Amino acid sequence: MKYLIWLLLVCPLFAQRPVPPSHIKIGMFHYTLKMVKGDFSCGAVKKAIGCEDSETLEITIKKDMALEAEQEVVWHEVKHAVDKTFILTGEGEEFSDENWVEHSSPGELEVMRENPELVAYLVATENQQPNFGIFNLNVAVPNIFCTNLDCKQEN
Ligand SMILES: [Zn+2]
Repeated sequence: MKYLIWLLLVCPLFAQRPVPPSHIKIGMFHYTLKMVKGDFSCGAVKKAIGCEDSETLEITIKKDMALEAEQEVVWHEVKHAVDKTFILTGEGEEFSDENWVEHSSPGELEVMRENPELVAYLVATENQQPNFGIFNLNVAVPNIFCTNLDCKQEN
């Protein structure tokens, strides 16, 4: 009981927002995801907020965005990697909307199955509420409750 009271009082102090996993497996490739402060370039884009590099197997995401914006950018870059890994297009060939969805869905599902931490991050909200069965405690999630989520703060 003492421990529970301590948790209720102290846990919100340790609350951290969800962060993306630093490693993502996309097909046979093991990508590294890094968060960087400030501007960086990506190809022709001088001030990118996200970048996927299939040569270095790196995904770079700008730090300090709103969580929902960051989640969208992470998924955007993962989709680039999925498309490069799983989708075959001929020179100058274009897919119809139906064909694109048909070709991209299996690769996206494979990535979701292989990366449960990524999926947990993508659907997480700021200050997630832990659900302890019959108790729904109204406290922010501290590190110790982040079972399936990579809660480590990246530098
Ligand atoms: Zn893009």
